Amino acid sequence: MTITYKVKNGIYVNMTNRCPCACTFCLRQNGPGVYGSDSLWLEHEPSVDEVKASIDSWNLSKYDEVVFCGYGEPTERLPELLEVAAYIRSKSDIKIRINTNGLADLIWNRPTEADLEGLIDTVSISLNANNAEDYLKLTRSKFGIGSWQAMLDYAKECTKYVPKVVMTVVDKVTTPKEQEESRRICESLGVTLRVRPFES
Ligand code: SF4
Repeated sequence: MTITYKVKNGIYVNMTNRCPCACTFCLRQNGPGVYGSDSLWLEHEPSVDEVKASIDSWNLSKYDEVVFCGYGEPTERLPELLEVAAYIRSKSDIKIRINTNGLADLIWNRPTEADLEGLIDTVSISLNANNAEDYLKLTRSKFGIGSWQAMLDYAKECTKYVPKVVMTVVDKVTTPKEQEESRRICESLGVTLRVRPFES
């Protein structure tokens, strides 16, 4: 099974297939892998030792960053993710990013942002929509209508502990006008908007 895989200049880490959302655009609906990777459906959730061993199979000095991403929401395994991040930190100064739906505080039912301090360089959060109703329609979050506001609060709180906080929307599924509104929301939170290319 694929625990780590390469995308451009990054090593991506696939620790779970669990996610509280069922986004209408989720790449998981399109097939087993992305960017030419083998299947990202996991036979079992890898242990921390399995993830460390998989990371050790790469020469990190040749890459720009390690990204916790994969076919699921990485913060579903927050304690293990942080343990792996600490391991990477102990052996390399490579940048470490989490790609997340920003719902970690709802998943864990507590504030989790401070846990990232000193371990994570970038948090990239899917903004997806400019209001709670549209967000819920797109993400079908199991946490319901409060998810959008929780995700915004998470983004703002992360800026206290993480050097770079980015929010993303997907091009083509959002109009230029909607993207302008997203930019305004991001500015009010003190984070940067990134419009990601649509991938079919
Ligand atoms: S949050 Fe990410 S992994 Fe979860 S359903 Fe949405 S796109 Fe897929």
